[in-house]
Amino acid sequence: MSTRITVATAWLDGCSGCHMSFLDLDERLLELIEHVEIVYSPLVDTKELPERVDVGILEGSISSEDDLEKARQFRERCALLISLGDCAVTGNVPAMRNQFPLAAVLDRAYRENVTLQPQIPTRNVPALRVPVKPVHGEVKVDLFVPGCPPSADAIWTVLSELIAGRIPDPNSVTRFGA
Ligand code: SF4
Repeated sequence: MSTRITVATAWLDGCSGCHMSFLDLDERLLELIEHVEIVYSPLVDTKELPERVDVGILEGSISSEDDLEKARQFRERCALLISLGDCAVTGNVPAMRNQFPLAAVLDRAYRENVTLQPQIPTRNVPALRVPVKPVHGEVKVDLFVPGCPPSADAIWTVLSELIAGRIPDPNSVTRFGA
């Protein structure tokens, strides 16, 4: 029977940079998979989040109805939920739109700055929420790992502590915007 801890990751409204930082573990990934089973993530092929997961890691803020649904699903199914990166922890870049009306933001992106067929997409795109929130603005978060993105070393420290059965203190290895 596997004794590896199960980990699921997802990116909400983020740039994927936090997941890229995860990949920056480089050769340490080989050591990691001795202790961790990634059961759901953009980094693996699995399409369904299992019913029970030990550790959930969310990148990005909650900006759309899809983000909210995913965050709630992670909270429900993951024993420990981590906000990874400044967008998840504070709203960061996605939350910059909060100071403008949503209609003005859409106009700016899809009409004012477009030369060919300016139009605001309404079909097959997730509905945007107002305001954009950090993950803990909607669901309970157990651990915050700031940084834009958090360094691979910080991610390694956090995961190593969890593997050892300890709750890590990310403050010693992270800082906002670093
Ligand atoms: S915290 Fe930075 S690196 Fe991570 S998703 Fe946000 S903008 Fe990208």
